[in-house]
Amino acid sequence: MNQKKEYLDKCVEQAAEAYQFLKTTTVRDRAKFMHAVADRIEGIGAELIETANRETSLPFPRLEGEKARTIWQWRSYGNAISNGLYSEARIDLANPEKGKNDIRKYNLGIGPVVVFGASNFPFAFSTAGGDTASAIAAGCPVIVKGHSGHEQTSTLMAKAISEVVQEFGWPEGVFNHVLGSEVEGTKEKIGAYLVAQSGIKAVGFTGSYWGGKALFDIANQREEPIPVFAEMGSINPVFAFGHILEEKAEALAKEYASSLTLGVGQFCTNPGLFIAVKGEALERFKVSLQEAIAEINSANMLNQGIYSHYEKNKDLLSNQSDVAVLSESKSIAESGQGRPRVALTSAANFLTNEVLAEEVFGPFGLLIEADSIAEVEKIAQNLKGQLTITFAGTEKDAEENKTIFNIIKDKAGRLLFNGMPTGVEVVYAMQHGGPFPSSTDPRFTSVGPDSIKRFLRPLAFQNWPDQFLPAELKNGNPLAISRLVDGTSTKDSINPNQ
Ligand code: NAP
Repeated sequence: MNQKKEYLDKCVEQAAEAYQFLKTTTVRDRAKFMHAVADRIEGIGAELIETANRETSLPFPRLEGEKARTIWQWRSYGNAISNGLYSEARIDLANPEKGKNDIRKYNLGIGPVVVFGASNFPFAFSTAGGDTASAIAAGCPVIVKGHSGHEQTSTLMAKAISEVVQEFGWPEGVFNHVLGSEVEGTKEKIGAYLVAQSGIKAVGFTGSYWGGKALFDIANQREEPIPVFAEMGSINPVFAFGHILEEKAEALAKEYASSLTLGVGQFCTNPGLFIAVKGEALERFKVSLQEAIAEINSANMLNQGIYSHYEKNKDLLSNQSDVAVLSESKSIAESGQGRPRVALTSAANFLTNEVLAEEVFGPFGLLIEADSIAEVEKIAQNLKGQLTITFAGTEKDAEENKTIFNIIKDKAGRLLFNGMPTGVEVVYAMQHGGPFPSSTDPRFTSVGPDSIKRFLRPLAFQNWPDQFLPAELKNGNPLAISRLVDGTSTKDSINPNQ
């Protein structure tokens, strides 16, 4: 399906108008709106889960969980803005005797945002997902480019948000939804067209490296470049060390196999790489991993495109020289089903063949056997940016491998001490985003209330009379938010003439 250029232009125009309106809303107004969206999504009946299940093959319990998470995102981001945390109000009062001006600063929405729905999270990272919720929390209108893998689900979610926009009497352009792939009569992709429009001021994306990078390049080639917050590929290495392997090689293998194949491996935090030094403990790990993977069933992947990418890429990696298949699921996969597989190679081979460090989206893992800890260190040093890196070890392992710990700090957004990286909690301290190419801007997260920061920009006012200032900066502090006044955090009102 293609989309008319006129429709896309209308969406951008409406978004520009809606931005002017959103600038007049306070964080409290938007928090109320966000709670109303959460309630509306909660109220969509069985149709939502059934539609998403039909379109993505994701099982019902997973979809129920994802729906709850999505609702929580709207509510918790709403709560987070309403206490002024992201307004970051700073007031430095005038001091005429010292020649100092009255300067006040707060954060406001950056402007209209284009959001790309992700294929692998039809609720939480798609139309009504975290990017949309965080942009609206910031005060930015959103145009969602829905994902072709779940258009009906996307439409149900879009309807819920638009109904709340209407109920609040807000301009239609606060939220628009676009389906299709190309601009009618051209070969241009809808997403590329939207990102190039001067009315668009930022982009939120989750998907492939190639998609994210293409949009990033378009945004940077514009006359007015804009920020693109793209969360892309990651192989989420797990480094396992001697003492932990000695202690629990078998349990670790089971834990790894289960995380690798969770959701048919279709998570951006899927641990696609496992690295350890050769030895008796690693042999035990291999035997258990072999057994565990063999017992995990093949299952339907999200769509035909993702399935064929998986088939192609797992074979591409497995067929590289000096790579062997260590284990594969015993269950024979039908077309469309991802069959779990783990391949094996040496550290020396991994270090000289870049193909082996590519993401295989699906239940595929690569186990790397190193001859020495020095080789492990080299692998850590050569890694590209990742969303997560796991340090599987005891405290003694951590004491003995401080150099590696120090190296991996430069390579990922989230470092785990044991456990597995799948499962990204929606909390204030979460960091979901890492150095390039896992994301295009390592300073920000796309999960948790801090994701709102992506769509804000600071604006300072110098010597403006109180009536012209936004509520966040007024003398009386009508929103009762926490502010930094002359360097001290306070909720008190101020009297500049005292
Ligand atoms: P995708 O191909 O990157 O597409 C995501 C969205 O971006 C779609 O709406 C797509 O529109 C748009 N898009 C992609 N390339 C574009 C371009 N050059 N110009 C303008 N718009 C563009 O991701 P996907 O469909 O979800 O899955 C494909 C592969 O991405 C998977 O096999 C997997 O390897 C990877 N993936 C990674 C993650 C992750 O979290 N790291 C998540 C999902 C997928 P169109 O539909 O019109 O192309």
